[in-house]
Amino acid sequence: MLKITRKSLLYKSGVEYADYCLNHIEGCSHGCRFPCYAMMMKKRCGVIKDYNDWIKPKIVGNALELLDKEIPKLKHKIKVVHLCFTTDPFMYKQKEVSDLTLKIIKRLNDDNIRCTVLTKGVYPEELADTDKYGKNNEYSITLISLDKDFKKSFEPGAAPYEERIKSLKYLHDKGLKTWVSMEPYPTPNLVKQELIKILDKISFTDKIIFGKLNYNVKVTEFQDNKDFYEERANTVINFCDNHGIDYHIKYGTKKKDDKKTEKIFRSQSPDRLKLYSLKQAQLTV
Ligand code: SF4
Repeated sequence: MLKITRKSLLYKSGVEYADYCLNHIEGCSHGCRFPCYAMMMKKRCGVIKDYNDWIKPKIVGNALELLDKEIPKLKHKIKVVHLCFTTDPFMYKQKEVSDLTLKIIKRLNDDNIRCTVLTKGVYPEELADTDKYGKNNEYSITLISLDKDFKKSFEPGAAPYEERIKSLKYLHDKGLKTWVSMEPYPTPNLVKQELIKILDKISFTDKIIFGKLNYNVKVTEFQDNKDFYEERANTVINFCDNHGIDYHIKYGTKKKDDKKTEKIFRSQSPDRLKLYSLKQAQLTV
């Protein structure tokens, strides 16, 4: 895998569930076609040329050295580090990426810095070793469908849905905190599916975040998209209420936003974790 060097790694995030963030890879072989917001931004800034460039990830070769320099300066400020906003930390079948991610999580945990991790890949079982990795990390997957054809078109390089769920369930069964990002949830003109069947697969998880699909003309072409998202969000809320799962509906998904549910991101760090406008917070993974 190609390597790049960066001048810095940790940066302050503008989102609700982590105060700091890092991205130790440039690009992502999952190659999502929703489109991928991170790819659009990198293209706009001239960092990558096109989609083909994006799906050939480049590793930040000096990531661990940067952390050694940055952690001592920042560790008293940082409560939670999120991996990642502009790439996927457990890119499917990219061992080099996963190995580096594990080292980074361990490096942060060694200094008592908690991590939240979001992937469309597969979690290595060794994360359940809480002597090595922190037991307060939170692990999450993105899951918006169970339809294989939809995955082939929209998340071509990502892990099969069942593998993602299985690896998350493994960490849950080992006592670790997990959540599921159901965003960007597609409209029926993209895939016909029953939301409840997807929810049933993840009934073990601690939190669910549900949000609409943005930046895709197909959503606006679907005439009843506002009613559709209202109804689906209510399905998620009822399901979570019945299963004792915390939830948050991303702003702009329901006709009327409920700001109270933001609190699920504060459950472990009420003193430090800042809340920001969820409208700005588009999960990239
Ligand atoms: S997994 Fe995330 S970062 Fe990777 S292509 Fe898909 S949306 Fe983009």
